[in-house]
Amino acid sequence: METMKKLITTSCANYIDGKCLLFDRECPLISGGEYRGKKIPASDCSCTYFEKAVLPANKTLEAVYYGIDTVLNKKCKGCGKGFNSVSNKAMYCGDVCRKSANRNSHRKYNQKRAK
Ligand SMILES: [Zn+2]
Repeated sequence: METMKKLITTSCANYIDGKCLLFDRECPLISGGEYRGKKIPASDCSCTYFEKAVLPANKTLEAVYYGIDTVLNKKCKGCGKGFNSVSNKAMYCGDVCRKSANRNSHRKYNQKRAK
């Protein structure tokens, strides 16, 4: 998971030169861990510091981390479907809805003028 790795290497304050200062070994979220002699894949590892201090800054990766494909925190004003956006200004799920909404408001405007 390249993007997760990038977030850790660039944003985690405990990540120095591939090592985690908290665990005093390689970052388990990147290199994976070991528990009673059994290898644990990086995707199954967790880090409390990362969850609390690094992850909330990136909602998309937060969803990936917790195994949720998409956190639908917005409702599209065009089609009414839920969608995910980190931007507070986002009102539409995509360009298609934004454009058709603009077209509709134009049409209403023109109808009023025609009367
Ligand atoms: Zn929509």
